[in-house]
Amino acid sequence: MQKKQEKTGLIWFRNDLRTKDNCALVSAIKANDQVVGLYCYDPRHFDINEFGHKKTAVFRAQFLIETVTDLKEQLLKLNIPLLIYNKTPETVIPKLVREYNISNIHFQKEWTPEENIVLDNIKQNLPRNIHFFSEYDQFLYHPKDSHLTCDAIPNVFTQFRKHVEKRSIVQQERQPLEIINQEATFENNTKNITLDSLGFSKFERHINSAFPFKGGETEALNRLNYYLFESKKIGFYKKTRNGLIGPDFSSKFSPWLANGSLSPRTVYWQVKKFEDSEYKNQSTYWLIFELIWRDYFKYISLKYGSNIFKLTGILNKKYSWKTDQLLINRWINGQTDEPFVNANMLELKQTGWMSNRGRQNVASYFSKTLNLDWRIGASYFESLLIDYDVHSN
Ligand SMILES: Cc1cc2nc3c(=O)[nH]c(=O)nc-3n(C[C@H](O)[C@H](O)[C@H](O)COP(=O)(O)OP(=O)(O)OC[C@H]3O[C@@H](n4cnc5c(N)ncnc54)[C@H](O)[C@@H]3O)c2cc1C
Repeated sequence: MQKKQEKTGLIWFRNDLRTKDNCALVSAIKANDQVVGLYCYDPRHFDINEFGHKKTAVFRAQFLIETVTDLKEQLLKLNIPLLIYNKTPETVIPKLVREYNISNIHFQKEWTPEENIVLDNIKQNLPRNIHFFSEYDQFLYHPKDSHLTCDAIPNVFTQFRKHVEKRSIVQQERQPLEIINQEATFENNTKNITLDSLGFSKFERHINSAFPFKGGETEALNRLNYYLFESKKIGFYKKTRNGLIGPDFSSKFSPWLANGSLSPRTVYWQVKKFEDSEYKNQSTYWLIFELIWRDYFKYISLKYGSNIFKLTGILNKKYSWKTDQLLINRWINGQTDEPFVNANMLELKQTGWMSNRGRQNVASYFSKTLNLDWRIGASYFESLLIDYDVHSN
C-alpha cells in the first residue's frame, strides 16, 4: 500500500509573534502533519528610507530580537522549530518550500502596500500548488464580524465605536493547542540574530525609560497580569492614562500589541475576567475603549488603503508643507522654542518611548505650528518608536 503523503506547513510569522491566540499557528497545526515556523529579519526594514531615517532604529530592533528569541522558546514547547533568517522572505520561502516539501503557508493577513508587494513576489516564485492560508488576526473586532463593508466604515470614531459595540462581537481566544508530534524533526541550523548583524553597534536601556520592559510574549503576559491583577492599576487607568512619566500611568501594552506578541483579544478577555472577579468601573471599560481606537485606525487604513501614506492624506486635501531641514533637526533634537515639545522629543530620542499626550503635542507642533511635511515626522516616529504600528502612526 502506498504511504499517505504527509503534509508540511510553514507558519510565516510577521506581526503575530505569539503562540497564545494565534490563528496562523492554530490553522497550521490543524491542516498539516508537520509544521515549521519562519521569521525573516527583512533587511529592507533596516534600510534608510526616502526621508533619511533608518526604518527601524535600535530600540525596536532590540525589542524585536527579544520577541523572536522568546517566540522560538515558546514554539519549542509545541515541538515546532522556528527558522530565523536575516534575509528577505522572497529569498527564503521558495528555498524552504523546496527543501522541506512544504505544501501550505499560514500567516496573518496584512493589507498595506509594502506587505502586499512582498506577498506577490513570493507567490510569483512558487509553484501554483502551494496553498496560502491567511486571516486577519490583529483586530479586537474581526472585520468579518463587524457587518461593515469598506465603504461603510465610519470616518468618525464615535460612530465606529458605537457600531462595533452594538453589532459586533469579540471572538474567544483561539483554544490552547495540541502539542504536535512531528514525525521527522527538522534540523534547525539557524541562530538568533544579534543587534550587530542588523548593523547596530550597542544598546543600553535608559535607566529612566518609561518603558523598561523586554520584548516577547512571556513578558507581555507578565505585564498584563501585573497591570490588571497584581497592581490593579487598571482600576485607576482612566484618571492616569494621560500621564507623562513612569511605567504605570498607562498600560504600556502597545509595543507587544504592535508586533503581535500580545493579542488584543487576550487583553479584552483578561479585562472581562478582572471585571468578573474584582470590580467593573469606568477605568476598566476605558482600556477596551482605547483598544477600539486601535481597531478604528486599522479599519480606516482598510478603507483608504495607500492614501494613508499620501501627502494629501485620506481627505485628499492640499496644504503648503515645508521641508526645512533646520527646523526638522531642531524638532528631532529637542531644540524648538517649546520646552514641552523638547522634553518629549528628547525622551523619544533617548528611550524609543513617548506618552500619548506627548505624541499628540509634538505631532501637532511639527505639522500645524511648523507646517512641516507630516510624512517626515511620521517617518521619524516610525524609526524611533518601540511600539511603531503602521496604522496608529
Ligand atoms: C502622532 C501619534 C503617533 C502614534 N503612533 C503610534 C504607533 O506607532 N503605535 C501605537 O501603538 N500607537 C501609536 N499612537 C497611539 C498611542 O499614543 C499609543 O498607542 C499609546 O501611547 C501607547 O501607550 P499604552 O500602551 O500605555 O496605551 P494605553 O493608554 O494603556 O492604551 C491601551 C492600548 O490601546 C491602544 N491605544 C491607546 N491610545 C491609542 C490611540 N490614540 N490610537 C491607537 N491606539 C491606541 C494601544 O494599543 C494601547 O496599547 C500614536 C499616537 C499619536 C498621537
